Amino acid sequence: MSLLRQPILLLARSEKVKKLVSTMPVSAGIVTSYVPGETTAAAVKATSDLLDDGLRATLDFLGEDTLDVEQADATVAAYLDLLQQLAAQGLTRGAEVSVKLSAVGQAIPENGDKIALENARTICRAARNAGTTVTLDMEDHTTTDRTLATLRELRKDFPETGAVLQAYLHRTEADCRALAYEGSRVRLCKGAYKEPETVAFQDRLDVDRSYVRCLKVLLAGQGYPMIATHDPRMVEIASSLASRYGRAQGSYEFQMLYGIRPEEQKRLAGSGETMRVYIPYGLEWYGYLMRRLAERPQNLSFFVKSLVSKK
Ligand SMILES: Cc1cc2nc3c(=O)[nH]c(=O)nc-3n(C[C@H](O)[C@H](O)[C@H](O)COP(=O)(O)OP(=O)(O)OC[C@H]3O[C@@H](n4cnc5c(N)ncnc54)[C@H](O)[C@@H]3O)c2cc1C
Repeated sequence: MSLLRQPILLLARSEKVKKLVSTMPVSAGIVTSYVPGETTAAAVKATSDLLDDGLRATLDFLGEDTLDVEQADATVAAYLDLLQQLAAQGLTRGAEVSVKLSAVGQAIPENGDKIALENARTICRAARNAGTTVTLDMEDHTTTDRTLATLRELRKDFPETGAVLQAYLHRTEADCRALAYEGSRVRLCKGAYKEPETVAFQDRLDVDRSYVRCLKVLLAGQGYPMIATHDPRMVEIASSLASRYGRAQGSYEFQMLYGIRPEEQKRLAGSGETMRVYIPYGLEWYGYLMRRLAERPQNLSFFVKSLVSKK
């Protein structure tokens, strides 16, 4: 892992830093390079542009660690509005939504899991009516079991619901085996949170090795793997494993984040691969931006310049 990653993630928790950064307009260069805007209209426009380029999309209404019911309800309402607008513009054939359970109530101390399950169910129903699907994002390791339990419940009624697994966790290869069954959509990423060594690989190489082991399980299995990485080596390995396991293009897909390696996104789509771009949008872009900066400290100087000029 990058030497700067942990300090940046720690700094991101400082209220002072948050206040300073959050007063930047979303139009500040560094924010718009990762987040297309704060409104549903901006997200729908970004989706339409990507679909025109032959890409697909998954949209995330930003917000996490909601502690009150009203805020969780507001997040659900935002997803319903989004799905309705995507459907109205005929975009749901190529766009689905990604949901963080903590944004729909999982972190509420009393009955959090039950609230999150009901809210997620509402979004899944709306997604199905709009002709698309939901994928549950994965957050820090303290929530993995609860998120997978919610997934199991949701899949009883909405088997098309996708899950995310994080290769940096020691447990993930086993989770991949458990989820590599027919019809099971699984997004494999490396993992973005600061996790202790008791549960997660700390060394970049160990994370990469785990990613490859998980890829093998998913691509050899019966499910629908969603390969979420910007890492050129992982993309190359995934492509050759897909051929080795006799997987046709379209029986798995690649995924990358909005604004990261856009040329590579187009190249993969142009070569016949399904390429889906994760589009985060909304007012709560702070935590998301900080995780992206922690992964790519080279962008820090650009970030500091935007902050100083506040343009
Ligand atoms: C669709 C999608 C969904 C995700 N969902 C989750 C989730 O639910 N939970 C979770 O914990 N994490 C999630 N992530 C984030 C993920 O865990 C990683 O933190 C993130 O993708 C960076 O890892 P990487 O595989 O790209 O490889 P890294 O090892 O971070 O990077 C490898 C290479 O990719 C390129 N690269 C990476 N970042 C950048 C950048 N910002 N700008 C330019 N080039 C870059 C560089 O060439 C770099 O050397 C998701 C990622 C994607 C793509």
